[in-house]
Amino acid sequence: MQCPYCKHPDTQVIDSRSGEDGSVIRRRRRCLSCQGRFTTYEKVALSMPLVVKKDGRTRVPYSQEKLIKSMTLALRKRPVTASAIEAAVDRIEQKIRFGEKEIESKKIGDLVLAELESLDKVAYMRFASVYFNYSKPDDFAIALEKLGFSITKK
Ligand SMILES: [Zn+2]
Repeated sequence: MQCPYCKHPDTQVIDSRSGEDGSVIRRRRRCLSCQGRFTTYEKVALSMPLVVKKDGRTRVPYSQEKLIKSMTLALRKRPVTASAIEAAVDRIEQKIRFGEKEIESKKIGDLVLAELESLDKVAYMRFASVYFNYSKPDDFAIALEKLGFSITKK
């Protein structure tokens, strides 16, 4: 680890301790050149797969921010707490993380739909209408029926 003060490449670890839950290790270091002291934190970095877009060619890094954004948008003004959304995002990420190096954006969309379906049916419909690109009222009707709503046509 390079010294942040003098950029000397060699520093010595003088103390290590793990955080409360053991997921972070804090190391106290000392520069061998200028004797400056600083702290580093070590955390496990689980790599997330690349997301393959609909065209099958474009690949973008997975973005938790985007996922939360789209779910929050679907859940706007719905009686679902931020912590429930977080828990849903956690479950989605667990599934993504242990898969392949690449994941189709469609698969993430399916996971989001499954979570929204159990969180809030209205949010599910909002997300589904964009996701499946519903254009006809019939598309909505079919989706609503799948959710267990009965529709009476007039
Ligand atoms: Zn130094």
